[in-house]
Amino acid sequence: MKRYHYVIVGSGLFGSTFAHFAKKAGKKCLVIDKRPCLGGNVYCDNVEGINVHKYGAHIFHTSNKEVWDFVNGIVPFNRYTNCPVANYKGKLYNLPFNMNTFYQMWGVTTPDEAKAKIEEQRKEALEALNGREPANLEEQALSMVGRDIYETLIKGYTEKQWGRSCTKLPAFIIRRLPLRFVFDNNYFNDSYQGIPVGGYNKLIKGLLEGVETRVNCDFFEHGAELTDMAEKIVYTGPIDAYYGYRFGHLAWRSLSFEQEVIEKPNYQGNAVVNHTEREVPYTRIIEHKHFEMFGDAVYDNAKTVITREYSTEWKPGMEPYYPVNDDENEARYKQYKALADQEENVIFGGRLAEYKYYDMAPVIEKVMRCFDN
Ligand code: FAD
Ligand code: UDP
Repeated sequence: MKRYHYVIVGSGLFGSTFAHFAKKAGKKCLVIDKRPCLGGNVYCDNVEGINVHKYGAHIFHTSNKEVWDFVNGIVPFNRYTNCPVANYKGKLYNLPFNMNTFYQMWGVTTPDEAKAKIEEQRKEALEALNGREPANLEEQALSMVGRDIYETLIKGYTEKQWGRSCTKLPAFIIRRLPLRFVFDNNYFNDSYQGIPVGGYNKLIKGLLEGVETRVNCDFFEHGAELTDMAEKIVYTGPIDAYYGYRFGHLAWRSLSFEQEVIEKPNYQGNAVVNHTEREVPYTRIIEHKHFEMFGDAVYDNAKTVITREYSTEWKPGMEPYYPVNDDENEARYKQYKALADQEENVIFGGRLAEYKYYDMAPVIEKVMRCFDN
């Protein structure tokens, strides 16, 4: 008998949810994380009484009622609805692309006028495609919304975020953005969304209740000891690191965050303002209090905390954030995945181990399915 049924490497949502269900099934788990905190990318710091999303802004959204009920059973979620605003050369546009955006862009006031304008804008790109599928992000965007929106709201932001030309990026990245002919600034089409009341740390604390945890513990420094103690390892770190980068590094985008406490209660009036101009070096400014404080409550705290988010190419030693799922990296990932598929005592899961652009809810759903039997 080993000491633990599962040693879980990584306390992000995959690892924490796995530990929760394993414990419920009577299994003994140890969750380790190399960071000094638990929760992976959803971890929040408390600064001036405000929950600051330390590893990037996180908005929970899903249409899966089972997932929504599950997380709300751990901690209730608030009514936050993500309505980001884009700033292009000082002019503001609502996102995602909807009647408000079209009015701001072209002055059109009815859905018929907006549709006619979009059709006119898409015409050139559709003719160029001549019936074939868009092969890259630029073709996808131009054939979806046309040149004005592409150049104002997409091109600069995307090239900053990904550090690559839109012609070198996969089309699917942009397909997740809604296009609507109603006045609706809700960024997501999902049935449910919100932020845990009291912040994400409460969700992680709830998931990990009664589970043994160890922080500042890097699997690669204690691998032999940890493997010895466990019947199975659940690994949620980068898959290329697990195999010593033997097929080369997978490419990631990393982020750097510039945090500032501002001596006023309300800085930008919204949680998320994207800066879509190429010349502004950051991609967006997050004002964290707006995730959890609404209406007059914004003014209860005389201070506010903002974060400017910069996107950079990942280099060894940096935090990996977004997988760059281009053809070269997908091919490399497949080589690693073939090794992982042969492991009997290691389960690979989550954003880093599956090299996948995963939202939070699908990660939780994936773990739920692991425990169906
Ligand atoms: P992670 O949260 O990354 O957890 C992995 C953990 O493993 C980390 O804590 C890491 O320290 C640890 N680890 C790695 N290697 C080792 C090692 N060798 N030893 C020990 N520990 C190790 N999703 C949404 O639904 N809505 C959003 O608004 C949203 N915003 C996002 C914004 C950003 C900037 C990013 C990057 C992602 C966003 N996501 C969002 C996606 C969301 O973060 C993921 O779905 C979720 O974090 C996945 O959890 P995970 O456990 O797979 O990974
Ligand atoms: N995007 C854009 N302009 C914006 C917001 C998003 O062009 O103002 C594009 C960009 O390519 C981005 C993609 O849409 O990578 C997906 O955006 P989302 O907000 O879903 O990205 P996230 O940061 O949540 O992964």
